[in-house]
Amino acid sequence: MQLAFSSISGNESFARATVAAFAAKLDPTVEELEDIKTAVSEAVTNAIIHGYNRQSGFVYIEATIDSDGIEIIIRDEGCGIQNVDEAKEATYTSRPDLERSGMGFTIMEHLMDEMEVLSVLDKGTQIKMRK
Ligand code: ATP
Ligand code: MG
Repeated sequence: MQLAFSSISGNESFARATVAAFAAKLDPTVEELEDIKTAVSEAVTNAIIHGYNRQSGFVYIEATIDSDGIEIIIRDEGCGIQNVDEAKEATYTSRPDLERSGMGFTIMEHLMDEMEVLSVLDKGTQIKMRK
């Protein structure tokens, strides 16, 4: 499954619902589906508010189902992350002014079985997750 959509907040619920509909093929429990939806929301929100800093751009999602479960890749072509290790630390946020709590990556790591962050400054960020 591949999806591309504009980086506006109104598309977050669309992205979450679309991935959930795709993941339904796995016959997940309600809890597993909620975990996937929350993780997708966190990554998409990050792409919109941090990657594109609310400028216009596209967010891309790719999802694959195989015998092990689902793999979801969420990608932006925004500003990238200077220090990925620091960004992944619980409570680290570069935007305290927006009252972010810095918990997005911690939540994604907790809810999904695997999470990998690939980021290149001024090129963009890709989050790969599995469940
Ligand atoms: P919260 O998710 O709790 O609202 P947050 O978004 O700041 O707060 P995380 O989601 O953990 O916290 O992200 C940590 C930091 O990593 C962000 O503050 C931002 O600096 C950086 N970051 C995350 N995703 C991206 C992205 N797609 N592009 C650029 N920077 C990012
Ligand atoms: Mg976040």
